[in-house]
Amino acid sequence: MSDIFKKIKQEWLNRCVRCGSCRNVCPVFNATFEEPSVSRGKISLIDLIKKGHGKLDREAALIFKKCTTCLRCNEICAMDVPYEDIIITAREIATEKFGLFKEEIAATTALKNENLLDTAGNFSRLAYLLFKKSKSPGNLVSKFPIPGKGTAALPEIKPGKFNYKDRTFKPAREKTGKLIYFPGCMFSRAYVDTSKNLVRVLTTLGYEIFVPSNINCCGAPSLHAGDRKSFEELKNKNVEILNSINADGIVTGCATCCHNFKHNYKELNKPVYQFIEVIERHLDEISKWKTEKPINITWHHPCHIVRGQNLPKDLPERIFTSIKGITFVKMDEADNCCGMGGSFKMVHPAVSDRIQERKALNIIATGADNVVTECPGCIMNITEGLEKKRANTICTHTADILAMCIEK
Ligand code: SF4
Ligand code: SF4
Repeated sequence: MSDIFKKIKQEWLNRCVRCGSCRNVCPVFNATFEEPSVSRGKISLIDLIKKGHGKLDREAALIFKKCTTCLRCNEICAMDVPYEDIIITAREIATEKFGLFKEEIAATTALKNENLLDTAGNFSRLAYLLFKKSKSPGNLVSKFPIPGKGTAALPEIKPGKFNYKDRTFKPAREKTGKLIYFPGCMFSRAYVDTSKNLVRVLTTLGYEIFVPSNINCCGAPSLHAGDRKSFEELKNKNVEILNSINADGIVTGCATCCHNFKHNYKELNKPVYQFIEVIERHLDEISKWKTEKPINITWHHPCHIVRGQNLPKDLPERIFTSIKGITFVKMDEADNCCGMGGSFKMVHPAVSDRIQERKALNIIATGADNVVTECPGCIMNITEGLEKKRANTICTHTADILAMCIEK
């Protein structure tokens, strides 16, 4: 038996009865039709290596990365196989042996270091001026060439991050509670207007919002790439800061940050909420809000909300149908992954593109003006997918839609 895989319990692997049900739902398998793409294939491979019938080589490490961690296999699996634990631990073991893939190094290194992130932001602003821009009015995207791999879409990084200093935003009416806003990397640097809108909506609903300046990346990109050491360092710093602040809870507009907090930040001394969870408490109040002109909205379920946090699937529809002027249009496969999957898009861009195209076509078929979601990675990737199809639909965040509907 291979000792290196002892962190993956044999009992986890034995739970898989190789039924293949996960093949029907796996977006990567549906884009490749290759057995190593799906959880069953990866579990079989790990089992073989663990029992000494296969070896952990670079090809195996690449297969472990061929997964968006969308958790659709987890959702369908009748045997309750702990797939997320298996694949993240397998990536960790492979990273210990081979290091991170070159496509992952830049992002995970920058995300660990605020100064580096500032420098990367300045560079990307320069690159943004040089390379072709998206026509999308809502979320502009630069197309950066990746040698030998095509291009990658990145949102415009705004000058000056949102949480450049500690800030308190007072409630606009009688106080409902006090929440810490955790913007995460993307909403503090790229989608800054979304952060402003999120704070505006919550203060309108009576919350005092505190935004700490010294907070770090939540560490999810490092954890998913297999770099647990960096994840633990980031987590420990964040827990110390967040636990020292007196508040009723933490709110974030990022599905991946929230999923990561709820599952991996066991030391936190206060609850963490996804933005839509907080909005759900105020459906009566937002039913007085309206749009300036009628709009059609559809919703893309981020994997880390619908499965990662198990929030009700009908929650976005309940929120948007309570606002006058919004027509909610259902989308086929709304809970299917968009193909982003963190560094999956960089390591397996061709497969990611196929999943992204399927998502874009489903969105276009709704005829909606806006596809709304609550994850910056999804917004970035879906915006790129819609751009490629020259669609008129704009991808945006729940907070951006709600902010324009606030009762005047
Ligand atoms: S659905 Fe579950 S038990 Fe069936 S093959 Fe997939 S992981 Fe194994
Ligand atoms: S997590 Fe998603 S992409 Fe990965 S194997 Fe399961 S269904 Fe496929």
